[in-house]
Amino acid sequence: MFYWLHKLKRRIKEKPSIIYPHEGFLPPSQDTFAAIGELSRVVRDNPDAVEIYLALGNLFRSQGEIERAIQIRTSLIARPQLESQFKARAWFELGLDYKRAGILDRAQAALEQAHTITGDDPAVIKEMARLYADANNFQRAAIYYAMLNEPLPQAHYLVKAATMGNKKDAAEVHELLEDALRVYPGSVEAWLEFIYRDYQQGNWEGLDADLKNALQSVKLELRFVLLEGLLQFIRKAASEDPDGYIQEKCTQTIVSTVTELDQDLVLCYYCAIFLKKSALIEECLDWLEKTLVMGPDFWPARLEIMELSQNDQVLTESFRTQLLFFTQKAKSVKRFLCKRCGLKREQIFFLCPKCYSWHSISFRTQLSE
Ligand SMILES: [Zn+2]
Repeated sequence: MFYWLHKLKRRIKEKPSIIYPHEGFLPPSQDTFAAIGELSRVVRDNPDAVEIYLALGNLFRSQGEIERAIQIRTSLIARPQLESQFKARAWFELGLDYKRAGILDRAQAALEQAHTITGDDPAVIKEMARLYADANNFQRAAIYYAMLNEPLPQAHYLVKAATMGNKKDAAEVHELLEDALRVYPGSVEAWLEFIYRDYQQGNWEGLDADLKNALQSVKLELRFVLLEGLLQFIRKAASEDPDGYIQEKCTQTIVSTVTELDQDLVLCYYCAIFLKKSALIEECLDWLEKTLVMGPDFWPARLEIMELSQNDQVLTESFRTQLLFFTQKAKSVKRFLCKRCGLKREQIFFLCPKCYSWHSISFRTQLSE
């Protein structure tokens, strides 16, 4: 039945291969090391082929074969006649190999070598900025982002430098945070630090002023992060009681500030949450209803209303159990989304951990998002 297939197989077997004329059907070597050696011989003294050689190293790195990638770079760097442009590239890629392997000090040293050859090349500076950030050297990372003229990450790492560890004195912290706002007034992370401090000190006037300034300075779509951040901060501060009571004075400050703004669905929702946590349930329900007038599909408000009114209903035990099941499920839905890559999170983020976009967080106002 498959006679034709048999015939075809035989014909193919007898035909010499054009690709590997001397070796039959198999590539000359199945050993990747030998393949690298072969490729290395072929590309030696040919500047165009160095590109291919470097690309091969990148391929190894992307496969997680870091040792082999490193071997390629070091063999290139060792060539006495290699043009400086290629030498810089080899050092640069070597830096990325070490970074991928988690050997950050060697990565830094290799990138410094590339930096010495190229001067302030943006690709090298950017990698150095990221590397110093990964190594928790935030002040250094901020300097490199300043060189790149990228104020948003510069401000971000100034805030990280201010809030890292407990040794710094208050004046120094304040100065770093002020620096962050000076280079990037929309730094939601810098504003949050001021807001946390106001809350901690019970400084409601300060909270009022900082919140007003912050709401005007950050991008419209990021304003909710200020209120969510404060809620998460309060929750963390009162970790023994996740549904801890929020002082009425704090909630009033937030509600009156938001009232002065143009109506915003998500901000109204946060007013309701603060009111709930100050046990001002009637007002809370008013604000929740307000959000539903603006957006009938706004699911978090419906969930809150259902929970708050549950106790007023006469429910059978079985019905209550089913209801509880679904409210718990709905509460586990992650409320935040990266606009760029779609990553869903329950914690706020300033740099997307998946696609590395800055300030790409948004609130999922629709469940289908
Ligand atoms: Zn993302």
